[in-house]
Amino acid sequence: MNRAPRYPITDDHIHLDPVNGIGIAAAKEFQRAGGTHLFVVSKPSWSLGIEPSCGEDYRPVFLATLSIVREARDLGLGAFAILGVHPAEISRLAGRMPIDRAARVMQEGLSLAAEYVERGDAVALKSGRPHYPVEPPVWEASQAVLRHALLLAADRSCAVQIHGESGPCADVEGMAREAGMDPARVVKHFATPDTPLMPSFIARHEMIPELARGGRAFTMESDYMDEKSRPGAVIGPKSVPRFTLRHLANGALSEEDLWRIHAVTPSRVYGVEILLP
Ligand SMILES: [Zn+2]
Repeated sequence: MNRAPRYPITDDHIHLDPVNGIGIAAAKEFQRAGGTHLFVVSKPSWSLGIEPSCGEDYRPVFLATLSIVREARDLGLGAFAILGVHPAEISRLAGRMPIDRAARVMQEGLSLAAEYVERGDAVALKSGRPHYPVEPPVWEASQAVLRHALLLAADRSCAVQIHGESGPCADVEGMAREAGMDPARVVKHFATPDTPLMPSFIARHEMIPELARGGRAFTMESDYMDEKSRPGAVIGPKSVPRFTLRHLANGALSEEDLWRIHAVTPSRVYGVEILLP
């Protein structure tokens, strides 16, 4: 029933949540709009009503992501899982336990996510640090969690997506190198162009055409949250195909730019094949 897509169109950061949102229906909307590949990021544990007290408690969160990724593949989409621990979990956990234990729980959760990467069920880890101001001990603990994620990723040769404070997160480049990781495989979610990491730009970012013309490597994302209680909290699941195809139609992006953004760069960053179905 669908016309075969002529271009790969990849959403680098989307959530699909059958419990709090519309789940697989969002993937169908993405596909109908011309989307072909998506990187589905695990949701924070609280969105499943889980209050973790050890790493194992993250397993149901990861299994929920892996299951919706399988459903998306059944639709003919190229779907990949990114598993990890949302950096804001530190603040919730710290309300229930000492900060060093909170950091340990998150590190254990990341180690569990890395097992799924090792098995080939997930392609990358998700980590980061609070995007809002926190006390120095919370910051230090968050940095330790992020370092753990970078070490795990170096060990498994996988990418890491980070959610952090807005701005460049410039020090993470050095942290990645110290951990033995190529900073070009550290993806800054909701990026600004000043980052030395691999930017993933929100689809509506106004500098996308200009940066693409300059040959910059980056990916695009919707950051669609799939939560009915927060409709339009960011933008919808169709945003990456819509902006991309609009830019292509009006000449703001060339076909070569499109292939670089949606196939060449994400293939290289995540080590996956992005081919037309
Ligand atoms: Zn997100």
